[in-house]
Amino acid sequence: MSPGRESNVAPTRMQPGKPEAGSNPIGFVPGALERWQKMTFSSLKAFYPTWPDWRQTSDAPGRNTPAKNLNCESIGYVESPGQAHRMTSSAPASPSQTQSVVSAPIVSAGSLTSLAIWFGIFTGLTEGLGLLIFQRINWRQWGRIIHVSKEIVWISPVVDVLFFVMVAVLVWLVSRPWPRLPVVRVLAFVLTFLAVYDWLTLTNRLYHRACWLLALGVAVAFMRWLAKHELVALRFWRKTVPWMVGLFFIFLLAIQGGEWMHEEYAVARLPQAAGSPNVLVIVLDTLRADHLSSYNYSRPTSPQIDRIAQQGVLFENAVATCSWSLPSHASLVTGQYPGQHGLQNVQPMPWLGWGNGSMGGYPTLGEALQRRGYRTGAFSANRNFFTSNVGLGRGFLHFEDYFDSLADSFIRTLYGKEFAGLYLNRTEHSKVIRALRYLGIDSILDKDDEGSGNYGGAFAVRKRASAVNQEVLRWIERDRQRPFFAFLNYMDVHYSYGGPRGYPKPEWDRGTTVDEYDASLRYVDDYLGRLLADLRRDGLAENTIVVITSDHGESLGGHGMNYHGISMYWDLIHVPLIIFYPGHVPAGLRVTTPVTNAAIPATILQLVGSPDSAKFPGPPLAAVWTKPEVGPKWPYPLSELARNEFINTDDKAVVGKIPTAADGNMVSMVTPRWHLIVHEKLGAQLYDWTVDPRELNNLIDTPEGRALAVGLSLELKSGISRRDGN
Ligand SMILES: [Zn+2]
Repeated sequence: MSPGRESNVAPTRMQPGKPEAGSNPIGFVPGALERWQKMTFSSLKAFYPTWPDWRQTSDAPGRNTPAKNLNCESIGYVESPGQAHRMTSSAPASPSQTQSVVSAPIVSAGSLTSLAIWFGIFTGLTEGLGLLIFQRINWRQWGRIIHVSKEIVWISPVVDVLFFVMVAVLVWLVSRPWPRLPVVRVLAFVLTFLAVYDWLTLTNRLYHRACWLLALGVAVAFMRWLAKHELVALRFWRKTVPWMVGLFFIFLLAIQGGEWMHEEYAVARLPQAAGSPNVLVIVLDTLRADHLSSYNYSRPTSPQIDRIAQQGVLFENAVATCSWSLPSHASLVTGQYPGQHGLQNVQPMPWLGWGNGSMGGYPTLGEALQRRGYRTGAFSANRNFFTSNVGLGRGFLHFEDYFDSLADSFIRTLYGKEFAGLYLNRTEHSKVIRALRYLGIDSILDKDDEGSGNYGGAFAVRKRASAVNQEVLRWIERDRQRPFFAFLNYMDVHYSYGGPRGYPKPEWDRGTTVDEYDASLRYVDDYLGRLLADLRRDGLAENTIVVITSDHGESLGGHGMNYHGISMYWDLIHVPLIIFYPGHVPAGLRVTTPVTNAAIPATILQLVGSPDSAKFPGPPLAAVWTKPEVGPKWPYPLSELARNEFINTDDKAVVGKIPTAADGNMVSMVTPRWHLIVHEKLGAQLYDWTVDPRELNNLIDTPEGRALAVGLSLELKSGISRRDGN
């Protein structure tokens, strides 16, 4: 509702003698307004016993006074006891009116609260819608914005209402010793300033200082207007606050209910799928294979995964299709190499959402499993690169990325982000940080680099394996009739390492980078074990195919790099791959043949008996244990890394010293002995990874290396063109 509209209406409603009850200012069904107001007021009254009765504010007999005769208590507003008596003395007061005057300070607090609620909802709804719009406009700088999905439209008003009510309480408390303070005007000034500042910052384009000044100017102008029209404005706010609350609930129901109904409807339309096993794909983001104890690491980092591996098949030399998350996840859901699915960098976000054209339009594992009657869900802790926003939602009827906790929801709003930018990036000595720790609000201090990167700004709150587990278990519980396909991304091994605060440190953790990396693995391994224990408890584990893998490794100092994403060494593409399906895959089998983990979709579809398996690049990995003779003929796994400039500051030093994606596209191929890496501008590297897994000894310039590289390059080219279908 706009003020302009109200001003058209007000004179009609103020006609002397014309009954107001049932008047219909916005063309609503007659009587509905009255019922709605009554309903909202009584629910508000449940929270605020001192809230004035709804009739006092709308159609109470004797209140049809012209605007010029508006008196204060008719809008439930009394600035101070003294002032109230002065203002009401001219009009005869009914007993109930007298009572409202007697309880003036309390009614006044109610008025301030309603003003804060009105401003909070209005500001928040605008902010939520604006964040969605400006996220699209600013998507080119996706790395420095904290991402949102449509839930923000109701989350922002909640945060703004809470914040503004706190401001109202503060203003009210300040006004107590000064009864002459024009408290409503002061509050309206502060709230106008906060609202306008909020809207200006959401563009992510203006300097904060400019936003401050502009907001201050608007607030001053509004104050001047308000000084002359205070009572009319108050009456407007008071009358429209139920409408604002209503509007908020409409958005809340439309977004949450709409999503729920959409999923229920889609699930109801799925074909029957009696007897099919559940499918659980677990991606441990950034986990290099050689740090798992089941991959012969010296530390007991992964007792739970080791146990699963003993009951399933472990691929000792599985290779990821890329060395960073986005292309690799697209490969894990389509089975295609990055060159095919094309999601090699963050792409512009379509205004109307991603259609079937995302990831090159290739079919996804989720879509194929839906055709087999599966409910499909994704649960992601990687809110940069495994989200619906980046185009990976296709095939998932349910996708949980943002808003997993109160802290995360708070920080995705503008004032939450503002708070995070101002206080949460401070040192451990900061009073705010210490206060939050004292209050046990540690999760808000557990930082994720989303929204910050190397650019400054605010951090998001990290989503831990415990939260991912809760999400997936809650979703599984919702429907036990159908088989599920759940795709999980645990982000705990990703920088910054060490696991959540408060989680016991392993004995080896002395604080070095590698110690902390391993400690993160120990944490996520524990929670992976807990998830499977919960599934066992619910009788689901026996009939669930579990696939454990990673999207890429981590340098941890190798070749002078700390992280991942700009080169293709063995420690960056060698990932774990374990398939667990008791009774259907051999227990304790270890496969040495190098395989790509992009074969996961074809493998799963074959295991569940889907003819769609043939539509996904393979070959399905079951052949490795059903026909061991195929091993030597297995296609060599390829990886592709497109040119990109998203380089962590700490890794920039290596650019120019070693071939990196900062200078051009790269491809790599792994044979049972050799690893060939080709840079489009900087030539090839060749390593014998079986004896030199750290790849310190480049053989490309040896006579043997040169001879080998010729043949391998041809293999690499033919591998790529086979994939391209040429
Ligand atoms: Zn990743």
